[in-house]
Amino acid sequence: MIKYKKDHWWIKWFSPNYATTLFSTIYVPVNWDSLTKLQQDSLLAHENVHIEQFRKYWILMSVAYLFLPLPFLFAYCRAKLELEAYLVQREFDRSNGVDVESDIYRNNLINQFVGSSYLYMFVCKKTVEKWIR
Ligand SMILES: [Zn+2]
Repeated sequence: MIKYKKDHWWIKWFSPNYATTLFSTIYVPVNWDSLTKLQQDSLLAHENVHIEQFRKYWILMSVAYLFLPLPFLFAYCRAKLELEAYLVQREFDRSNGVDVESDIYRNNLINQFVGSSYLYMFVCKKTVEKWIR
């Protein structure tokens, strides 16, 4: 199920420019309508992995995602859950003609892990580079 993040007061403040998936609901970012169809489908490919993760791990998913072993800097569980989603999204993008080998794409992907987007989820850039090779 897809819902607009902007329509839900309790979640619209949380990373408004990113989708958030809770169990089987994807809350799309505030800029959803300005994305191309390919960008929307790419994002949904990513978020569908999180729905599957919620099915598999249920409440463990939330605990592991948010807190294990740390909520930031070395959020290994979050990083691995996101990695699974980003690798599926990258394959979706590749199969739709996006140059996923470009420096721009690769650096953007690395920055999702080491930058502020996910509260500096995993700061070992070399490790992230190995994961997404
Ligand atoms: Zn994600």
